[in-house]
Amino acid sequence: MRVFPSGRPSGLVRPILSKGWISEVFVSLQGEGPYIGVRQAFVRLSGCSFGCAYCDTKHAGKRVKKADFAGKKAINPVSVAAVIRAVKAFGPVHSVSITGGEPLEQPEFMLGLLKELKKAGYKTYLETNAAHPAALKQVLKYTNIISADIKLPSATGRKAVWKEHREFLRLSGKKAFVKIVVTGSTAEKELIFALRMLKKVSPGITACIQPDPALGIKGALKKFGPALLKGILKDLRVTPQVHKIAGIK
Ligand code: SF4
Repeated sequence: MRVFPSGRPSGLVRPILSKGWISEVFVSLQGEGPYIGVRQAFVRLSGCSFGCAYCDTKHAGKRVKKADFAGKKAINPVSVAAVIRAVKAFGPVHSVSITGGEPLEQPEFMLGLLKELKKAGYKTYLETNAAHPAALKQVLKYTNIISADIKLPSATGRKAVWKEHREFLRLSGKKAFVKIVVTGSTAEKELIFALRMLKKVSPGITACIQPDPALGIKGALKKFGPALLKGILKDLRVTPQVHKIAGIK
């Protein structure tokens, strides 16, 4: 794999990987959270070790040989330059969503990619499981919007990462909003715990409660209505996955 030095005269110690593992690059409308409906270029990185029970991008959970660039195949690992070319071909977009998989499991590639996207004039939107604060530190400067998932163990079926979430949110500050996926197995007390944690760490943050399709908005309000109406956070919203309702990517 070709690497190039970060190349500034001051000489950064970390090399920036010019190639990374991509699942797909496409253009669509953002379907989740406070930016629902904006036209974005999506760069979906492949590989995620979290393993949420409700994951709806399992196809991007493992690194694959071929990436899908708007219908054309590209061989992984793919260069930053190839990604930028594909994004430019979509024309004007609100922002470029770097999603996954888990983008912050490839921090050096992310650094190169985000830097080049910024250089090309794009606003960057990082979608992450908010469990990698050290990786965030490396790329924070080049992100504009951070969509940070808060993982409730009763929904994910995985271990809690509260410490990582706290650190992540402290670092990301006003750039971040959070999404909390709730499912039929979500424990109400964990949801309340998460909202109180957010109130403490980042009181003004926008938090979107996102029911998985099997539960739906109606089911979520039936199950969690009283908890959500407690008034723990100022900006708490319940938002569906609009792309799924619309049947788009
Ligand atoms: S962190 Fe995201 S990509 Fe990874 S398993 Fe969970 S939902 Fe899927």
